[in-house]
Amino acid sequence: MRPALPEHGRPWAEIKDEMSGFSTNDVKWREGRHAFHVWYGGDDIFEVQRESYAMYMQENGGGAGKTFKSLKIMEDAVIDYAAGLLQGKTAVGHITSGGSESIFVALKAARDWARKHKPEITSPEVVIPFSGHPTFNRAAEYLGLTIVRVPVATDLRGDVPAMEAAINANTIALVGSAVCFPYGVVDPISDLSALAQRKNLWLHVDACIAGLQAPFARELGYEVPDFDFSLPGVSSISADMHKYGFGAKGSSLVLYANAELASFQPFNFYDWPLGQFSNPNVASTRPGGSIASSYAVMNYLGHDGYLALNKRLMNLRDEIMAGINAIPGLTINSTPHSLIISFGPSDQENVDGLAIYDEMAKRDWYLGRSYQPRGMMMGISLPHELSKAKLLADLAECTEQVIRTHQKSDPNAPLTY
Ligand SMILES: *Cc1c(COP(=O)(O)O)cnc(C)c1O
Repeated sequence: MRPALPEHGRPWAEIKDEMSGFSTNDVKWREGRHAFHVWYGGDDIFEVQRESYAMYMQENGGGAGKTFKSLKIMEDAVIDYAAGLLQGKTAVGHITSGGSESIFVALKAARDWARKHKPEITSPEVVIPFSGHPTFNRAAEYLGLTIVRVPVATDLRGDVPAMEAAINANTIALVGSAVCFPYGVVDPISDLSALAQRKNLWLHVDACIAGLQAPFARELGYEVPDFDFSLPGVSSISADMHKYGFGAKGSSLVLYANAELASFQPFNFYDWPLGQFSNPNVASTRPGGSIASSYAVMNYLGHDGYLALNKRLMNLRDEIMAGINAIPGLTINSTPHSLIISFGPSDQENVDGLAIYDEMAKRDWYLGRSYQPRGMMMGISLPHELSKAKLLADLAECTEQVIRTHQKSDPNAPLTY
């Protein structure tokens, strides 16, 4: 029997207790057992997120700048800060609910830009490396676009000559990632920028992961290929607050090189009883809290706070990478430019990287499963400081076992994410 809505309300304290119990079988992310989904920056940031979110939780981003001047002040400031980090002198943008929405609205803008500037195209296509996020296909399905995925080069970065070869008379846009989710590498965005300019195509850079991280990694001396608005062919950038921007969940940024490109994002409508309806986002009602917490966290951390946090995280990444490389038979698959790492057997032909993944899952590690190449990926966050030693010890044991026993992955193993 399905439970009905309780006849009578219950005390909050009792409900709260019950709800805490629900998480018993969740991934123990506070202990660093996760690979993504939580990008924790520390208890102090969590408190700032929580309080600032609650301050504007009832306010509605749908009325930003109209009913709620407050939200517009904070949204504009956050976009200004991000534009500074991404070299966007004339950049404008919006806060969205997440990377997926940022990608949706950027592709919508690209489509409508092409409708204006390339009206002869009736079946628009977008060329993207194989490593691009699935949301590009999801958005394309909604928007009536076709995504053409192109295999990556041997360094796991986008293969620009192959992407150029995939361009045809229907192509309206190119996409590159900074960094891509599977491998943690920045695609050759400067080459894509030149190609986009030469072919008069929109170029979207998906910097959901590293848009608010790579600028600090670079300042710390790490090599990060150019990916931002300093490249003249970049039209739009998605960058998630709720990943390495350390905002509360439900916050991402989408920026355009200039106001003209940004003008293709909003949906404008008049033909209903209440007249003009104009909205840049997918949602109409949107949480004021996500705007408020973005503002609060960026001001709480400031430049030096982000720098210090990134120093700690990049050090942690380097330690974990060194530990993985020291495990016989295991290797890092790419030269990562951010906090995502991809790893698996160095002998892909004879050792099944997914079998190592399976063994790790049995030991309660929720890593990212990778099919190409077979192995694992993870995004580093602070709780991995606690789990690093155990993670590396378990990886060493599981790898040794899989190599010794020629173990193959169980195709019927349940998905852990
Ligand atoms: C997370 C991510 C997305 C999707 O963002 P959501 O906030 O999960 O909707 C898109 N692209 C990349 C590279 C990502 O890492």
